[in-house]
Parts: sequence; structure tokens; C-alpha cells
Amino acid sequence: MKNLKIGEKVSNVLTNRKLIKFTKHRHKRRIGNFKIAPILQNDFYLDFQGVATNVNFSAKTSKRFRKILSEFIKTCRFVNLFITNSCTCRCTMCNFWRQNKTFMKDSIFMKTANVLEGLGFYNFSLTGGEPLLHPKYFDFVKILKHKGFYVNSPTNGTLLTERNAKRLRESGIDSVSVSIDSLNPEVADKVRHYPGQLHSALNGLKLLKKYGIPSSAIVLLAKHNIHEYSEIIKKLDAEYDTPSILCFPDAGIGPLEDINFNKDELVKLLDELLILKKEGYRLLNATEYLREIKRAYLNQKRCIPCYGGYYYVNVYWDGRVTPCFNKGTICHINDLSVDSLRKRGCTDCLNQCFIEFSYISDCMARKKFFTLWKERSETLELHFLG
Ligand code: SF4
Ligand code: SF4
Repeated sequence: MKNLKIGEKVSNVLTNRKLIKFTKHRHKRRIGNFKIAPILQNDFYLDFQGVATNVNFSAKTSKRFRKILSEFIKTCRFVNLFITNSCTCRCTMCNFWRQNKTFMKDSIFMKTANVLEGLGFYNFSLTGGEPLLHPKYFDFVKILKHKGFYVNSPTNGTLLTERNAKRLRESGIDSVSVSIDSLNPEVADKVRHYPGQLHSALNGLKLLKKYGIPSSAIVLLAKHNIHEYSEIIKKLDAEYDTPSILCFPDAGIGPLEDINFNKDELVKLLDELLILKKEGYRLLNATEYLREIKRAYLNQKRCIPCYGGYYYVNVYWDGRVTPCFNKGTICHINDLSVDSLRKRGCTDCLNQCFIEFSYISDCMARKKFFTLWKERSETLELHFLG
């Protein structure tokens, strides 16, 4: 086996896949936006085209890199795991709180974790409703972490107390995303129908920082914030040291009448956001996803096929599996198999989770590391590697 030389393609010399583990907490190495942590001590760097940029790339290390690549490819399946529809808020654009309160049973949770593990799912969004309302929430996080998954939870922030932040840290969760609609408390209260939601959310972000939990703000785009959207992103970054994720409204989640906006406003905003990203503001969405929204609103050809139901699924409290919020049930989790996961290439909506992660996952599966590198999206780091 020969060693890699600087500038040489890793694929030229690698022949076999052997034991290597992709851990997040030991011997961290930063490669672009990724952190890669080989278990053993050999130092190496390589860029996203698999070109070695450091000497001493031994054969042993080469084998490990091969395994890292396969781990990358395995990491590209995502699940929204809805452990409850119960919520502290009464948001205008959401249907969950209007339904009878339901909590996922332990048996369905365990079945889901086991089935998805077998199908190569790696990235779990433990969500609701308000997921922290589930009495077993912290146990669920620990179980998923014990199995080696990446775990993120979105929350409206109303339950991010000091005690819960500490328990989140102890659970080993990888990241938490907090809903922020506006930096004007009156607007936030009106949208969420929870007095003081903005205060709780901002305080929650501080507590997450205090306990060292990576965090981001989910900012749902709507008519109440479209005029101040760029300012919100800038302020969250500059004043609250928090990166943001643009979330696009989806009729499958709830009524859109109160939150819709017009095409001109949206296209203007997207141009502003693309500039903000270039200027280095931490808007975590992939640039191509922002362009895709613009293409859709300008009636241009869509370029990102959505693979909801293949790279990404929703699993609900009762074990129902759906490709996304808008399509019918695939099956019950008990019956989910590799044959149930199909690539449809849909372009019916603009839901951030499904479209953006279809794009990212597909780039990973096709090993388009250069495209991913060009995106320089911290989303990759936040949602894949913690
Ligand atoms: S949008 Fe989120 S915070 Fe609002 S009611 Fe629905 S689940 Fe709760
Ligand atoms: S484009 Fe929208 S409707 Fe179609 S599969 Fe993706 S999330 Fe579902």
C-alpha cells in the first residue's frame, strides 16, 4: 500500500473499507465546515474532492478515510419524529394543537428507532407539538444518542428553563432549534398566542449557549415578518450570536391565510438573503434552496427534485409514516421496509426540511463534495455532525 502524496486523489490509492469510527467528540479535525474525528491518532487533512492536503497519509489512515466516506453517505437519511401533537402555543399556521392531545408510546418509539436504524437513518429531529412536553422526552433523546444517531429538537422555547437546558445537556442532544418569528414581542405573541414567547425563546437561546448546546433560530417566513426578515437574521447573528434557518410556510402543517405574502416581496427578500449569505451572515439554508424558492415564484424550471419519502420521512405519534406533510401515509412503522422508500422527485411545495435536505442528501449520496463545499452551509455541520 502506498501513502498518499499532497494533492493526490484519495480514490487513487484506497482499496479497502475497514474499521473506523466517525465520532464527534474525540480528536476533532476541522475540514471546511465538517469536523472529522478519526479514532486513532494519525493526522490527516483532505478536501471535499478527496484530495490529500497533508503528508503522512498512511495506508491505515487511507482505509479509515474510505470508511468515513461510507459514513457520510449513510448519514443522509432524516426523520421528523413527532412524539406528540400537544403544544404550549396556539400558532395561527398550525393544526397540531387543534387535535386531541396524543403522546407517542414507548413501544412505538422503540420500534421506530430500531426500524429506522436498520434502514440507514441517522439524523433524528425529535419534534412535536412541543417535544419537551412529552414525559419521556429526555429518555428518548438518551436512547437515540446511545444508538449513535444525530439528534436535533425544534422547540418554541417556552419550556427552555435553566433546569431543562441542563437536562438537555445531560441527555447528550446534538443541537436545538428555537422558533423566532419577530424581534418585536407583540408580533411574536400574536403569531404564537403565548404571552412572552419571544422572551422565553431568546432566554432559551442564552441558556443553550450557557450549557454548550449548539443552537439555531428557526424563522418562519410570513407576511408579519417579511419586511423585517433580513434585519431579524442580521440581529440574531450579530446581537444574539445565533445562526438562523429560513422555514417556508407549508399548507400541510396548517392554514396559510394569515401568513401568506406576495411574489414581489418574496423575490426582493430572497435577493437580500443571498447577499447576506455572501456577506457572511449565518443564514444556514443552502444557497441553492433559496434560489429554488425564487425559481418557483418566478415560474422558472425547478432544479431540486424533492425526495421526501426516500431521504426524509415523517413518523407520527401513532406510528404512521408519511413522505412529508402533504402526501398520504406510506405505511405503519411496523411495515416500513427499504421497498417502501421511493424517490419521487416531487416539486409540489417548497418545504425547507424536505427540499433542502433532499438536495444535501443527494449531493452526499452522489459524493458531490465540491458542491457541498461551495455551499459552505453550516447547516451541514449543525445537522450532520453537531
Ligand atoms: S407551530 Fe409549533 S409551536 Fe406553534 S402550535 Fe404548532 S407545534 Fe406548537
Ligand atoms: S415537494 Fe413538498 S409535497 Fe412534494 S414530496 Fe417534497 S415536501 Fe412533499
